[in-house]
Amino acid sequence: MIEIDGITKTYGAMTAVDAVSMTVETGTITVIVGTSGSGKTTLLRMINRLEEPSAGEVRINGEATHSLKPHILRRRIGYAIQGHGLFPHHTVGRNIGAVPELLNWPKDKIRARVDELLELFSMDPDAFRDRYPAELSGGQQQRVGVARALASRPDLLLMDEPFGALDPIIRTRAQEDLRRIQQRLGSTIMLVTHDMEEAIRLGDRVAVMDGGKLVQHGTPAEIIAAPATEFVADMVGDVERPLRLLSLIPAGEVVEEGTANGEALPASASLRDALSACLWTGREAVPIERDGAAAGRVTLAAIRARAEAHG
Ligand code: ADP
Ligand code: MG
Repeated sequence: MIEIDGITKTYGAMTAVDAVSMTVETGTITVIVGTSGSGKTTLLRMINRLEEPSAGEVRINGEATHSLKPHILRRRIGYAIQGHGLFPHHTVGRNIGAVPELLNWPKDKIRARVDELLELFSMDPDAFRDRYPAELSGGQQQRVGVARALASRPDLLLMDEPFGALDPIIRTRAQEDLRRIQQRLGSTIMLVTHDMEEAIRLGDRVAVMDGGKLVQHGTPAEIIAAPATEFVADMVGDVERPLRLLSLIPAGEVVEEGTANGEALPASASLRDALSACLWTGREAVPIERDGAAAGRVTLAAIRARAEAHG
């Protein structure tokens, strides 16, 4: 568990981060979202002590970070930034193994870890381990950067706009990969973005920053359904709000008895999927199945009711 307790950073008369407190549970992704200059990067850099806080403290599993030497702390905290920061003259394998090497892991253990991560990121180890960063596409470089940050199994991974440089199509893939790998490894991640869509898609919790202050911290559904301030509402975007909310509700939650025509959706599909299925085929309801067996139906009326309840 990461506890951020009243952390503040002032530069002269300017307060970049203003008494921010929040708790991050182990094995979850927290996305910090806000417009440019809202203090996101400064907050992140105070966690691994690239910046010293003016006030407040951070505890990792109960241990205050100011009681640890910065270089020890940074071995326990991975850091990935936009533009990946790979060493151009080192192979992919050495890049990923950089921190384990620093920690004097045995060579075969480093090698096994590098191959495991390459496989997790869908990169064939035999094809990629000996290449240089310049011999990779932008998306591949990005994956290697994230793999490197995860290599020593850090207690916490900090990511500052990691997908900012990627085009929107690769970006969605990169987000899906990160989510899958995070769940597989049980990593704890704090990720900064200015993109609310990304925050909602990736975060178990979303923390919204405005002018150095934390203005809301909650689940994506809470942020969408009940924005704490006008600023948050603007970021979420009024028009798309009902749709975004629907994308977070599994169809299984509003399933009712009865049948419907056409292809069935799994209970784990979102109401947004169910809505598109209805609208696309002109149906008033779609059948839902669970473990391959019929489980009832979701009606257009029920979907509308859920969207309006929070719209
Ligand atoms: P974000 O990452 O959300 O864009 P930053 O954390 O980089 O925001 O910056 C927050 C505010 O603090 C900005 O107004 C920025 O100009 C200011 N700031 C950041 N670093 C410094 C610094 N080293 N000296 C003075 N002001 C800074
Ligand atoms: Mg920033």
